[in-house]
This record gives sequence, structure tokens and C-alpha cells, in this order.
Amino acid sequence: MRGLASVVAVVADLSGAAGVAVPLLCLLPDLDASATAQTTPCHSRPIISLGPLLLAAPEPDMYGVLAHEIAHHARPDTWQRRIQRLHRLAYGLTGLTVVGALLGWPFPPAVTLAAVAGLALLAARWCQRREEYACDAAAVAYLNQLGLPGLDYITGALNAATAAESPWYARLGWLWSTHPPVQRRRRHLKRR
Ligand SMILES: [Zn+2]
Repeated sequence: MRGLASVVAVVADLSGAAGVAVPLLCLLPDLDASATAQTTPCHSRPIISLGPLLLAAPEPDMYGVLAHEIAHHARPDTWQRRIQRLHRLAYGLTGLTVVGALLGWPFPPAVTLAAVAGLALLAARWCQRREEYACDAAAVAYLNQLGLPGLDYITGALNAATAAESPWYARLGWLWSTHPPVQRRRRHLKRR
């Protein structure tokens, strides 16, 4: 298993390639061999949380996962703003539907509000999946910039994630989730 210091060095190299501040690294046991990107209102530094198994993952997979998370911090936040607006719309309409039900509004308006809320949530999920595709592509570019085979590394990281994906998710579950199934992500990268 490699030490955290070597992971910090990889993250610093990738951050340089992406043109972002080096994120704070946080070890979270629940994440296993994956990682997530976050921000916090407490300070301006981006954060990447990673699972301990990533420290033992093959080097290309570790590079691939970290490059993808750095892309989340480096990319313009156009999609993020859209996603936040759609979430606000969905939750606002859901609240209105509940209030309407409590006040005894007639059935058709309540159903319409609930349906629009559901559609807004699905649209937000669609935007989040677009963001995942875009981060995969950006990660390939950062790795290439470092002289590494970006496409191979990201494809390898996606292959490693396949085991954690249920057949149900790969077939239909992804439709209302934030991440596309691994197979689609691989196809999307190849089409670029
Ligand atoms: Zn992602």
C-alpha cells in the first residue's frame, strides 16, 4: 500500500495540469476504492475525500479516480448552477404539492405540480450525468498533459468500478441517478 504522501504528490501534479488549487485530502473508510469532490462554506479550499482501498489500487486506477475528482473542481460550474436551479424547482414544487394536499386542492393541479417536480428532478439527474461524462473527458486531458496515457487510465479506473455496479443499476437504475452506468461512460469516452 502506498503512503498518503505519494497520493498528495499525484494530486498536486494533477491540480497543476488542471489549473486549480491543490485540494485538501480527506480519508473516509466508507468510500472503499472510490473518491468524491466537495467544497465547504468554511474555507475556500476544494476537498477530495478518498477511500483507503484507493491507496492500494494499481497506480493507473488511482490516477484515473483522482483526475476525475479534480475535474469536478476545475470545470466551469455551468452544469452545477443548472442542477441547483432544477433541484430548487423540484423541491419547491414538491413542497407546494404537499401544502396543496393539506389544503384540499383539487386533484388535477396537485398531480400536475407533482409531475413537474418529478420531471425537474429527472432533468437535474440528466445534468449530473452530463457532468460525469465531461469530467471523464477532462481527466483524460489532464493525464495526457502529464505525459500519461489518459484514455487508458480512465478506462482502467472505470473497469475497476464495474464490480461495484449492480446489474439492475446498469440496466435501469441509472435513469434516476447522478452517475451513468460504467459501460456508457466507457462508450462516451471512446466516441470523443
Ligand atoms: Zn464524478
